[in-house]
Amino acid sequence: MKKRLILVMLLLAAVTLGLVAQPAGESATTWKVSEQSTEKTPKYVFMFIGDGMSHVQINAAQVLKGNNTKGSISLANLTFTEFPVVGLQTTYDATSFCPDSASTATSLSSGYKTHSGVLGLGVDKQFVGKTITESLKEQKDWKVGVVSTVTLNHATPAAYYAHVPSRNNYYDIGVQMANSGFDYFAGGSVNKAEDGGKKSIYTLLEEQGYLVTDDKNEILSLSSDSGKVYAQSPRLQDGGAMPYAIDMDASDVTLAQFVKKGIDVLDNEKGFFMMVESGKIDWACHANDAASEIRDLLAFDEAIQEAVRFAKAHPEETLIVVTGDHETGGMTIGFASTGYNTAFNILENQKASYIAFDEIMSDIIAQNPNLSFRQAMVLVEEYFGLASPGSKASDDALVLSEFEYSRLEKAFKQAMMPESSRESDQLSYQLYGSYNPFSVTLTHILNNKAGIGWTSYAHTGTPVGVYAYGVGAELFAGSYDNTDVYTKLKTLVGIV
Ligand SMILES: [Zn+2]
Repeated sequence: MKKRLILVMLLLAAVTLGLVAQPAGESATTWKVSEQSTEKTPKYVFMFIGDGMSHVQINAAQVLKGNNTKGSISLANLTFTEFPVVGLQTTYDATSFCPDSASTATSLSSGYKTHSGVLGLGVDKQFVGKTITESLKEQKDWKVGVVSTVTLNHATPAAYYAHVPSRNNYYDIGVQMANSGFDYFAGGSVNKAEDGGKKSIYTLLEEQGYLVTDDKNEILSLSSDSGKVYAQSPRLQDGGAMPYAIDMDASDVTLAQFVKKGIDVLDNEKGFFMMVESGKIDWACHANDAASEIRDLLAFDEAIQEAVRFAKAHPEETLIVVTGDHETGGMTIGFASTGYNTAFNILENQKASYIAFDEIMSDIIAQNPNLSFRQAMVLVEEYFGLASPGSKASDDALVLSEFEYSRLEKAFKQAMMPESSRESDQLSYQLYGSYNPFSVTLTHILNNKAGIGWTSYAHTGTPVGVYAYGVGAELFAGSYDNTDVYTKLKTLVGIV
């Protein structure tokens, strides 16, 4: 009973300090915590963030993993969709209902709202709020891990250790990462590690005692004796991120492997906190590429399985929280031209992410600058399964209509022009965003044929789910704000 009283007092203190949104009259959040708080305190906390991951992204992965054959559909469960507790969080930031990852990750890591683009500072860009990871390190001497499929000084991972007025201050964020004292960084590279004559961020990391490695064998042999580690994907893609899961081969280190090694490095008697971001769910959704988004989400789920394995070995001491930071792309299941049908199985025909396909195309165009649309269609069939009107395909659904074919031909012509010569009117932006007109039209056509629609190349205001398992999981039931995710964690782990 004593512990419960302390939890309630901590929460009341948080309300008094304005850290918890208090509705008029009785505080709903106080009621939830006082009625449902746990007697136990987790010692190992996993925070999984699917960037850009809301309900539809998750549901789409369940459909693709399940069965979408006409007449016999079934939905497959993911590891985290089977968690016993599900909640819902709102994602708006200080000034927008379509927030960015800097402000939303700051709310998740530190419990307050700020502007889009700002990391670890209040709306005045002066207030420095401690992150949960900084507090756990200082107050409880827990080990801390930060893992991401994108660069480790990108907005979401940075929100757990950095305080800067702009998420684009990559070098400054990198310096703060090297000085964080955190124990395990893993996944992508450091974005803009060099800045003129200043020391490389990698040099700063080594000076702070980090073992920096991108060697797969060395990464797979990391242990609790390895000390502080920066483990980087041996192969990088798309500005220093890990490759998309759809593009990976046996030489790559998967997100699940980075999480498993993170557990090995961080495991200790005092406790640890590991934040794991799947950042390219967001990037694929910006590009409206469902097959790549879903593959990364399934790889994210495999990484969550590693945490569940650990939780089962430490059932009285582990908490796993899985959530998104915002929705990206305005993804829907159901599209105008497919009506009440879906055919997700045709997504299986996509063999490379949009970015890998762009690279393949640019290599081919470099060798053959006069590549024709008919020649390009050979690649379209190989990488997307889509076939010209009237031709035979493995599935009739993959044969392009005359309308789709001419839409694709127009996009191809745009893609073959230098960027500066391409059409830049409002319709062109709605059709292609800032992406390669050819690949984005290919994913649009394949996605639409599968029954998937997109409304944006940016973030939307859709709330996101929170899935929890383990000690204190029940606190994450119900409907609340993203800042409450921090408050609930803070209350549970007992930091002030
Ligand atoms: Zn984004």
